[in-house]
Amino acid sequence: MIIGVDVGGTLIRAARFDEHLEMRQRVEQPTNAHQGEKAVLGYLYETIRQVLPSESPGDLEGIGLALPGPLDLDAGVLIAPPNLPFKNTPICQLVEDQVARPVYLVNDADAAGLAEHRLGAGVGMRSLIYLTISTGIGGGLILDGRLYTGRGQGGEIGHMVVDPDGPLCNCGRPGHLEALASGTAIARTARARVEAGEETLIADLVDGDFDQITARTVGQAAGEGDRLALSVINDAGRYIGMAIASLMMVLNPDIVVLGGGVSRMGSLLLDPVQQAVRQYAMHPRYWENTPIVTARLGKDVGLYGAAVMVQQRIGEAGS
Ligand SMILES: [Zn+2]
Repeated sequence: MIIGVDVGGTLIRAARFDEHLEMRQRVEQPTNAHQGEKAVLGYLYETIRQVLPSESPGDLEGIGLALPGPLDLDAGVLIAPPNLPFKNTPICQLVEDQVARPVYLVNDADAAGLAEHRLGAGVGMRSLIYLTISTGIGGGLILDGRLYTGRGQGGEIGHMVVDPDGPLCNCGRPGHLEALASGTAIARTARARVEAGEETLIADLVDGDFDQITARTVGQAAGEGDRLALSVINDAGRYIGMAIASLMMVLNPDIVVLGGGVSRMGSLLLDPVQQAVRQYAMHPRYWENTPIVTARLGKDVGLYGAAVMVQQRIGEAGS
């Protein structure tokens, strides 16, 4: 048996899986990040305890923790994840002290990529590029069937430079994909244009309270044919497509999978992505037989990915 855990800014989720990665039990509770590190660790232990196999604890092979980066995979340390009260927290050691079983750490976007490769849209594919587009943009690279992280911090697709003169990213550097195409960026761009007085349905959708504009509002307006909303999503899609075109030329993957809340806009986002890929890739060979699809696994993708990672790590240790 394996336990997968996904710790996000809003929810802590945990599930127990059997050796075929069938989910046997699943629980969740609020993270309550504002209560600080000690409280959140307490909630984490409690959530894990709820899915521990009570009758035969020795059957538990390991626990996988999916958390946002930056993190030190080898040391099992959370460096400074945004939206969570951790700083240089030796999370693997702390959880191991509680459960006395091996604990492994994985970046949450990497976990999602692993899960989509093993159980979702990329089953049977050799190489897969995963992007999660929500508040920020995360990436996961599965190359030749293996998660690729370089020296542990690789796969940061959200921080690829797509406009050298672009706005500052959350990380402090200019022109990164996340600063131009994340849900936050889509909302910010739309708000600026609405405030500048452009005619749009978005103003009605938020009853004139422009602070309420989110990527979801923009998606909704775009779905009704609103020109401003469509143009904002087009621009975001174009930047995502530029990044994907570059990744396709460097890595030549079998499939590209887009997850996260913003990807649920479907063709509204995928069409401009495809268009940009065709515009920027060196040769049709790079995209002709390389589908760009939306993720298949839902909100539990991080749990599945954490479990897949544990299975792989145990397999490696055994071979
Ligand atoms: Zn950045």
